Amino acid sequence: MKAISAAIVTTPAGPTALSLLKSVFGYPAFRGPQAEIIGHVSSGGDCLVLMPTGGGKSLCYQIPALLRPGVGIVVSPLIALMQDQVSALREAGVNASFLNSTQGAQEAAATERALIRGEIDILYVAPERLMTGRFLNLLTRLERRGDTQGDEEGGESFANMDAAAEPGHGIALFAIDEAHCVSQWGHDFRPEYIQLSMLHERFPDVPRVALTATADAQTRAEIIERLGLTGARVFISSFDRPNIRYRIVEKADARRQLLSFLKTEHAGDAGIVYCLSRKKVEETAAWLVAEGIAALPYHAGMDTATRARHQERFLREDGIVMTATIAFGMGIDKPDVRFVAHLDLPKSIEGYYQETGRAGRDGAPADAWMAYGLADVVNHRRMIGESEANDQYKRTSSAKLDALLGLCESTGCRRVRLLEYFGEASEPCGNCDTCLEPPEVWDGTEAARKALSCVFRSGQRFGAVHLIDVLLGRETERVQKWDHQKLSTFGIGTDLDEKTWRAVFRQLVAQGLLEVDHDSFGSLKLTEASRAVLKGEATVHLRKVVEGKRAATKRAGQSGSSGVAASLAGDEKSRFERLREWRAATAKEHSVPAYVVFHDATLAELARACPLTLDALGRISGVGEKKRERYGEALLGLLREAG
Ligand code: ADP
Ligand code: ZN
Repeated sequence: MKAISAAIVTTPAGPTALSLLKSVFGYPAFRGPQAEIIGHVSSGGDCLVLMPTGGGKSLCYQIPALLRPGVGIVVSPLIALMQDQVSALREAGVNASFLNSTQGAQEAAATERALIRGEIDILYVAPERLMTGRFLNLLTRLERRGDTQGDEEGGESFANMDAAAEPGHGIALFAIDEAHCVSQWGHDFRPEYIQLSMLHERFPDVPRVALTATADAQTRAEIIERLGLTGARVFISSFDRPNIRYRIVEKADARRQLLSFLKTEHAGDAGIVYCLSRKKVEETAAWLVAEGIAALPYHAGMDTATRARHQERFLREDGIVMTATIAFGMGIDKPDVRFVAHLDLPKSIEGYYQETGRAGRDGAPADAWMAYGLADVVNHRRMIGESEANDQYKRTSSAKLDALLGLCESTGCRRVRLLEYFGEASEPCGNCDTCLEPPEVWDGTEAARKALSCVFRSGQRFGAVHLIDVLLGRETERVQKWDHQKLSTFGIGTDLDEKTWRAVFRQLVAQGLLEVDHDSFGSLKLTEASRAVLKGEATVHLRKVVEGKRAATKRAGQSGSSGVAASLAGDEKSRFERLREWRAATAKEHSVPAYVVFHDATLAELARACPLTLDALGRISGVGEKKRERYGEALLGLLREAG
């Protein structure tokens, strides 16, 4: 039992996992498999934890580290985050520290001394630091309980360490975060991770818990093999993110659609807008700012200092909209990202899921919104066609794009489709656009035949814009130039409007009935599959265009401010805003991100319950004992005033 805070001792036998969850973290109950994992690790077992982003992996090692004697060593490659992770733990009254290359020598030496003296309960370490001979020797000393007189090992001496003669305090556990970094085939491979297997050889009695949000079977097998975790228990959570509402709208005027989404549903919220190109990132950010939205750009072409400043502002301030390429995101663990919007189609379902997964880590309602249109499909097909990669790679890229297009054009539940892709069966969710407003399907066979024969008769050399002009019988300059007013398909499509034709072409491409010729920009060609349709041997089902209607889908009671504050009534809402202001000021004073002080969900509950005593305050989820002690009076004062 440790003396992290006198108040934590809630039973004569010392704290339990649940009592720590309540007193330190202020949460009433464990989520999913947390309790089981914590029980397993606390009693000395190894395990591999596969949990989606926001699933609550951190507590799976933080609580066992507090329950077991000694220090919990957390290996993480995300050194930029360590400071914030440590700040959050310290806010909750835990003795946490970190060691990485961002520190000066003095600061690092002070941390090492504190470690030897047994004053640290949780230590975050960069893998390259952990694997140094010096640090491993230090750990060996810690493990040598009650036998630390000599220092014959390694020859490194820790000068000025009064505690050098004290008994070792032990290592509670090793947590290997982002364990997929051990996979050589993944995007995040870190060579130092391979060496982590030796922790087991050197410290066989210390339990190890490896954690990742990467679910595929190959990565899982690699982690187990490379980290020597054969025999470890594997805990696999559902990869569902029930609080994220998936929506994919048909692109008409993407900027206007985005703006209306931001203004009606996410005014004042933090979120990410993903664009494909750096140029579009810059332009979109500038345009959003002109529209009165606190947007910042982020992409790999910007200088490091500006990028770091923008990331810092996104993490620390309330309500910043980051407009970014996919360069932004790895290791962003801001819990209160309320939406992720895609102005361009990602490359694969994996990419889409990873990017949208950055929304709503705190479990409160969040949106994944995407606008997608024919140009996206044409672009991606062209990029794959033009790429220098080998055929195998092109085939894989095409298949991945097809799976994503299938999701976009799906008339069934988006979540069922997403989870199915990751090998998980589920029922329609009730929290995606297709569940909330099932799209109508129409028999598009006739329209498809008209479109396909128009492609054929005009020589398979034109893009959708021109083909639609021909179908609608428009005598444009191009039509005249090519004499297309003489085609038999000229004017045969006037029964449908232009928007519908765009949707028809898009879906024909998505369904593989038309392909994009990458040699001549954007022109459409027939495929093997189109033959059957032209011959009248196959039918085509298409989604009906529902532009405008779907964009207005809102959560019940949502009135346009924060998604979390959505369900708050008038008084509660103004209290919430007061609390947000107080939090911003407090966070600034302590130089920590706002969410380190309290999450949105906690502020919303405070606003709703309006507790007026310290006791009542302590029952709010997210208010642990240390925070109650530190902020209780200020909060009660504010709430009494805001009554
Ligand atoms: P991961 O590392 O799996 O992405 P985190 O450990 O950062 O997720 O947890 C995500 C969020 O959920 C955090 O803000 C955390 O405080 C919160 N959380 C975790 N477990 C619980 C719980 N049992 N009850 C309430 N909130 C929790
Ligand atoms: Zn659904």
